[in-house]
Amino acid sequence: MSDKTAKVTPMMAQFLEIKNGYPDALLFYRMGDFYELFFDDAVAAAAALDIALTKRGKHLGDDIPMCGVPVHSAEGYLLTLIRKGFRVAVCEQMEDPAEAKKRGSKSVVRRDVVRLVTPGTLTEESLLDARRHNFLAAYNEVRDDAALAWVDISTGAFRVMPSNRTRLSPELARLAPRELVVCDDLSAELGELVSESGADGTDLGRAAFDSASGEKRLLDLFKVGSLDAFGTFSRAEMGAMGAIVEYLDITQKGKLPLLRPPVREMAHGTMQIDAATRRNLELTHSLSGGRDGSLLSVIDRTATAGGGRLLERRLSSPSCDLAEIRARLDGVTFFKEASRLTEDVRAALRKVPDIDRALSRLGLDRGGPRDLTAIRSGIAAAEDIATMLSDRDLPDNLSDAASALTGHDALKHLLGEALVAEPPLLARDGGFIAPGYDADLDEARQLRDEGRGVIAGMQAQYADHTGISSLKIKHNNVLGYFIETTATHAQKMLGAPLSEHYIHRQTTANAVRFTTVALSDMETKILNAGNRALEIEKRLYSTLVAEVLTQAAEIANTARALAELDVAAGFATLARSENWTAPTVDESRVFDVQAGRHPVVEAALKRSGDPFVANDCRLSNGERDADIWLLTGPNMAGKSTFLRQNALIALLAQSGSYVPAKSAHIGIVSQLFSRVGASDDLARGRSTFMVEMVETAAILNQANDRALVILDEIGRGTATYDGLSIAWATLEHLHDVNQCRALFATHYHEMTQLAAKLDGVENATIAVKEWEGDVIFLHEVHKGAADRSYGVQVAKLAGLPDSVIARANTVLEALEKGEREGTGQKALIDDLPLFAAMPAPKQTAASGPSEIEQALADIQPDSLSPIEALNLLYQLREKL
Ligand code: ADP
Repeated sequence: MSDKTAKVTPMMAQFLEIKNGYPDALLFYRMGDFYELFFDDAVAAAAALDIALTKRGKHLGDDIPMCGVPVHSAEGYLLTLIRKGFRVAVCEQMEDPAEAKKRGSKSVVRRDVVRLVTPGTLTEESLLDARRHNFLAAYNEVRDDAALAWVDISTGAFRVMPSNRTRLSPELARLAPRELVVCDDLSAELGELVSESGADGTDLGRAAFDSASGEKRLLDLFKVGSLDAFGTFSRAEMGAMGAIVEYLDITQKGKLPLLRPPVREMAHGTMQIDAATRRNLELTHSLSGGRDGSLLSVIDRTATAGGGRLLERRLSSPSCDLAEIRARLDGVTFFKEASRLTEDVRAALRKVPDIDRALSRLGLDRGGPRDLTAIRSGIAAAEDIATMLSDRDLPDNLSDAASALTGHDALKHLLGEALVAEPPLLARDGGFIAPGYDADLDEARQLRDEGRGVIAGMQAQYADHTGISSLKIKHNNVLGYFIETTATHAQKMLGAPLSEHYIHRQTTANAVRFTTVALSDMETKILNAGNRALEIEKRLYSTLVAEVLTQAAEIANTARALAELDVAAGFATLARSENWTAPTVDESRVFDVQAGRHPVVEAALKRSGDPFVANDCRLSNGERDADIWLLTGPNMAGKSTFLRQNALIALLAQSGSYVPAKSAHIGIVSQLFSRVGASDDLARGRSTFMVEMVETAAILNQANDRALVILDEIGRGTATYDGLSIAWATLEHLHDVNQCRALFATHYHEMTQLAAKLDGVENATIAVKEWEGDVIFLHEVHKGAADRSYGVQVAKLAGLPDSVIARANTVLEALEKGEREGTGQKALIDDLPLFAAMPAPKQTAASGPSEIEQALADIQPDSLSPIEALNLLYQLREKL
């Protein structure tokens, strides 16, 4: 029977009190070299981490479930837990256990939570994707105003923009934050939207979103008297930013990360792309979920992590600002033309470590000596690059970047002198300050090392003195230095006169251990010198970190400049190797691409050695060209590829990249929409047709005359006539109301008649050749309507059984004949021969049994001898 009245141990009382403050997180409770978890936390963590669940003592008479992870490998376990959706409160020992003992034998070591680890607040290299930002976002509503703020604490980037319920979802799709903080009174309403965005939702009380306290938090954080220097912010924006700072305060326990001043983004400054379009165009993730097969994976030539992140941002938020786009393109052109220089710059960039993230770890006091050397090599490489660019005639954005690369001479010199080439990961163990940097440290280290030499000498001396040549001096953490001999030899030392000199310490199974007065004196000396050296190193580490942090803003600017150069040089390298061209971007509505290609399909075809057929697309180019192309052609002809390649070309151009085409003239696209008919979305539990219609509605309600709309087989998710009618009406709406540029692929041939009716619609088709009943795809886009759909031939290519193909051809012929002759569909179907998929019998079932059937029915098997049966079989075969 358990004793429910048992007393709670002081340690358990402390644990429960701390855990009380973090009911939603697993509590990592530090005990010496382990983080231990108790009760439900232990059960959950043991299952999630696949580690042993054990017991430790009793609480109110019951066993306490427990599991633990070693401190030195805790990061890996944290990663798994965060990925599995847990939050972790890390509770450390806040004093030396010796201190606690001094207060009394029952006294518990003081402990406190030093950090709440959540998906949006990670800084550790191993927990982050180097080439992706890790955003924490907050959404706030104030009456009829709303705002979204976001921050990447691992790089310090801090942004805010006006928002509302409709705009929130596309913005979340663009940013893909890991965590979204919302006010608890909104969380129910926004729940579905948040979970669809893939972010972890976190609720905070209304007070955290208060605009006045938000403003105050920001003023304190940036140590300014007014936020005007950063821009004019609405109350909703102030509240959203304030909530982020408040949440950082909660999770980082008051240690605020180095944030850059907030930048206000305007919604109309970037191309609007909603979540479905992003998914469908596979911008940063392929439809199967990974990075492979995405546009980003094919075009990324950046050499640094910072450049990789900036590229991902550029691609996720193409610009609508003409000056900005042109400036970026000028940068690419510069690097494309100066190929030798580009190679040199890229070689130097490859040596640039992740400066942003090193800086943020140092700022949060979570860094180590390697973060200092990362900054050292980063600023050194930046200076080399500045020298390479110094006598060049740079376009504006590159010269801005180049001027931010220098000015770190003093810091470079300091870190160069102070740190060894390859320091250990942790400051705790010392060994990272270079010799010659600090005289006191050198002296302490010398004493320590000399002591070790003296000990080596003592071993020879003792071996000589005792006459035991196998005697050794060893070291462990319990005994310190000791003399060790085998048990047989030890007898000598245990007896007089040696025993006066050699003091027995320990006997183990195989050995006996001794010490001497001289040995322990020496040990104390070494220990003192070692401790002193370590202390000096720790002090020097703190001064170096402080020195770096005073220049954090300048270092961050240099990191940003390096990323900018990296993206431009990467785009230039891509343009050269893939033969891309500079787009002409302007304020017109022209969309004129000559010989455009789909970068991802082209790359895939290249691997299998097939050529990609380039195609033109010309919309809205003055009077001559229609706004909308209606594209017909058989399945597999390349309709989707053509549609998407044109969307991607617009997107790449506005991201500041060259494009895969012979020439491209793009009038700025403010909104990009792409939909595919009846894509499967079972995961969200909606019927595919419903999804298709919801998404189409979103386009028809939002697209303006600056939009580019790509519709692929809209209406295919329902019955033929329903689908055709919907597609028809959708096209008319795009033409009459939205007046946007659009590419509309369909397999409804009936729609090609629309081109004659609507001025702004033109037919285009993808050519195929028929050869001996098979279809050959040429992948060439021409003006005009497709003559037929070749569906049956495509089915044949796919390996449908011959009998099915033959039957399909019969049905098709009958239908086409009916259409020509105006026969009703019902009559047609009634007329179709049945059982056509089987070899036709001589007589149909409708006119009575066939001769063979009749003969079979007449047989009486019981009355037949084997030989009669055989003869009968021969006769039956005759009748076939
Ligand atoms: P559809 O949408 O007409 O069914 P897709 O665009 O899916 O056709 O293309 C089918 C396949 O044809 C693609 O996977 C690709 O391999 C090939 N393809 C498409 N366009 C081209 C092209 N322009 N040049 C070469 N191959 C192409």
